[in-house]
Amino acid sequence: MKEIEELKKIINESNNIVVLSGAGVSTLSGIKDFRSKDGLYNIKYKYNPETILSHSFFFNNTEEFYEFYKDKLNCLDKEPNIVHKYFYELEKKGKLKCIITQNIDGLHTKAGNKNVIEFHGTIYKNHCTKCNKFYDAKYVFESKKIPLCECGGIIKPDVVLYEEPPNTSDIDESIKYIQKSDVLIVIGSSLSVYPVSGLINYYRGNKLVIINRDKTTYDFLANLVINDELDHVFNELNS
Ligand SMILES: [Zn+2]
Repeated sequence: MKEIEELKKIINESNNIVVLSGAGVSTLSGIKDFRSKDGLYNIKYKYNPETILSHSFFFNNTEEFYEFYKDKLNCLDKEPNIVHKYFYELEKKGKLKCIITQNIDGLHTKAGNKNVIEFHGTIYKNHCTKCNKFYDAKYVFESKKIPLCECGGIIKPDVVLYEEPPNTSDIDESIKYIQKSDVLIVIGSSLSVYPVSGLINYYRGNKLVIINRDKTTYDFLANLVINDELDHVFNELNS
C-alpha cells in the first residue's frame, strides 16, 4: 500500500516520534472496547458502562461497580500484540520518545516500553481511599466483592473514571512531548474522548499520522491517514 510506504519513510527519517494510542490497539490483544457497539455492553447490567465507570457511581454503588469492573476490565492474562511490539522496538532504537495511551491495560509497559504516559490510568495500580496504601491488580481482581485495605478502607483503582479529570502532570507531560515531537502517530483511537482528543491541537509539526480502522473527525488535520485493520498495517510495516 502506498500509504504504508509513506509511513515507513516518515518513521525512518525521524528520531522524535510520539505515539497516542487508543482502544483499537488493545482490541488486537482480545480486549474489548466498551465504547464500541460490539464492545463491553452487556444486558446483564442495569446501567451503561459510562455510568458504572463513573466517579459518583464508584462511591454510591461500590459493590455494583466492582462486579462490572472485575467482570469486564480484568485483562491480566492479555499479552502485547504486533503494534505494542513494534513501538517497543522503535523506543529501543531511540526513535520513539513517548507513548501516550488511553488504554488502562498496561500492555505498552508489558511490551517493554519505558516511557508511557497512561492518560486514563491503569488497572495495575490501586490505592486505599483512606490511607493510600498501594495494592496490585491481582489483589483487587481476586478479592470477594469490594476489595478492602487492611485498614478497612475501600480500595480504588488508579483508573481515570468518567467525571474525573486526568492527572494534571500527565496532561502537562503529554503536551510537552507532543509540542517537541516532529512526528505524531495517533493510532486506534476514534478521538471522541476529550481531553485526550484535544492533545492533537498542541502538535506543531507537519507529520501527523492517523491510523485507525474507521475514519475519525480529525482526519482532515492529518498529513497521512491510514484506515485499515491495524494488524494489516503492521504486518506490512514489518515486511
Ligand atoms: Zn487503608
